[in-house]
Amino acid sequence: MESICPDMQFKSLYDIQPEDLLKRDIRLLILDLDNTVSPYKVDKVTEKAYIWASAMKKAGITLFIVSNNRGRRPECFADQLGVPYINRAGKPSPRGVQEAMAYAGVPRENTALVGDQIYTDMLCARLAGVTAILVEPIKFTYPWLQWRYWLETPFRKTKDTKKEKSND
Ligand SMILES: [Mg+2]
Repeated sequence: MESICPDMQFKSLYDIQPEDLLKRDIRLLILDLDNTVSPYKVDKVTEKAYIWASAMKKAGITLFIVSNNRGRRPECFADQLGVPYINRAGKPSPRGVQEAMAYAGVPRENTALVGDQIYTDMLCARLAGVTAILVEPIKFTYPWLQWRYWLETPFRKTKDTKKEKSND
């Protein structure tokens, strides 16, 4: 059970600051798309997302979208944010993360995956051997999502990085 608990937890993707990653030597941040960067069904990047991505890139952190989405959303967001992407990644398969690391030339010790789901994103990070960062889902668009997140509750409450952060 401990094995799929996240290494770090934040309320939102946009609460992660470059220094949170740099102090752990993270240089490649792999992003889940749906409900991490943006809610389902939304195709437009917000100004907040754009500013956040720019700050990460300026700090020398490479961003890469690895999504299980089968539609055009990953491409759409990747274009708007100016980051590479892989769709239909089949997480928790580590394949997408491995491709992203090969593309960026960054080893697993310096890579993190951030996502909103335990059984896809956090398990994928574990299988790929990278740092696992959990965020809360942006929005419950579908009823089945609430059920799924409820199943993940025990894993979400085990570590509180926000508390750890405030003690720094
Ligand atoms: Mg997601």
